[in-house]
Amino acid sequence: MSIRPVVPEKSLTDLSRTALQERVVALGLPRYRADQLYKWVFQKGARDFEGMTDLPKALRQTLTDDGWTVGRVSLGRVAESIDGTIKVVIRLQDGGAVESVLIPMGEGRFTQCLSSQLGCALDCKFCYTGTLGLSRHLTAGEIVDQVIVARQAVPAGAVVDHLVFMGMGEPLHNFDHVVASLGPLTDPNGLGYSARRITVSTSGLVPQIDALGKVAPVNLAISLNATTDEVRDRIMPINKRYPIAELIAALRRYPLPPRRKLTVEYVLLGGVNDTDADARRLGDLLDGMPVRINLIPWNPFSGPGFARPEEGRVQAFHAHLDRRGYTVTVRGTKGLDIDAACGQLGERPALN
Ligand code: SAH
Ligand code: SF4
Repeated sequence: MSIRPVVPEKSLTDLSRTALQERVVALGLPRYRADQLYKWVFQKGARDFEGMTDLPKALRQTLTDDGWTVGRVSLGRVAESIDGTIKVVIRLQDGGAVESVLIPMGEGRFTQCLSSQLGCALDCKFCYTGTLGLSRHLTAGEIVDQVIVARQAVPAGAVVDHLVFMGMGEPLHNFDHVVASLGPLTDPNGLGYSARRITVSTSGLVPQIDALGKVAPVNLAISLNATTDEVRDRIMPINKRYPIAELIAALRRYPLPPRRKLTVEYVLLGGVNDTDADARRLGDLLDGMPVRINLIPWNPFSGPGFARPEEGRVQAFHAHLDRRGYTVTVRGTKGLDIDAACGQLGERPALN
């Protein structure tokens, strides 16, 4: 199956600011027209050229004649959880769909969870998206568009002030498009998010972690999820390629800006990786690293035969790491009732 994006080639949402400038200059127009166009596409979320009223009609006509479109994805079904979590389906131009989740953080602020691929190739055994396999990578434009299009589902007066690549897919497997998406996401003439408000979460692709550290000062989250290679090999096949010691070494050399912490995600699977010995080993592995640990009791779906640990087990695991001075949080179950919690993304077959 092809994993290359199957979308119109001439979509303005897929152009970097420099590429857009080159196109505009090649048309014999001044460079500032490209900046205006960029703002329309990424800041104002224009859907077509008609509304771009401060651009000369001739430019708009040339772009249209040349086959360019704004290439917007569209908003599909919106589901709201009783806890305020909002899950949106994003319809892609080739008929595919991904999901993105808006997580309420209080005081009218939301964190948006972005997808980077249609499905995922990494086959982690506890993850619903993993059961789907990989259909294709998303383009940079499709990634950025999730933020623009989901604005229609954000309650009036609320803002999305953090972005996390924790939706469908492994962002570092789609490295080039994810890095390209950071252009419009952080550009002041685009969506203007500071890199400090963006987190990329990975299952542990070591060479790409090194590469990301060189190109983008975003926050990094690692899905560690086990403390021995024996268990991690079993629940995350990627561990056979990049075992725990190599992954931890990559984290230790990641060029974190001062006063920032790595996030370590740890899905708690009852009876698999949630013992006192695991808590102790986790504390040892991360010793001396600037980390915050995020414990995620497993969000169930039928099939893989895992169980959520009992509440007491979660507390004991938390308490051990807390005593050792780590910053530890237990991630709640926001959005569980609409299948919008971590690892539950991906369209379910209809029930009848
Ligand atoms: N592919 C990336 C980002 C998407 S997964 C990664 O693996 O990091 C986002 C987070 O959800 C990961 O930390 C993953 O370990 C966790 N996760 C996946 N399935 C889960 C489930 N069923 N319950 C709880 N967390 C899950
Ligand atoms: Fe892919 Fe992340 Fe799910 Fe693993 S946990 S299958 S890497 S989305």
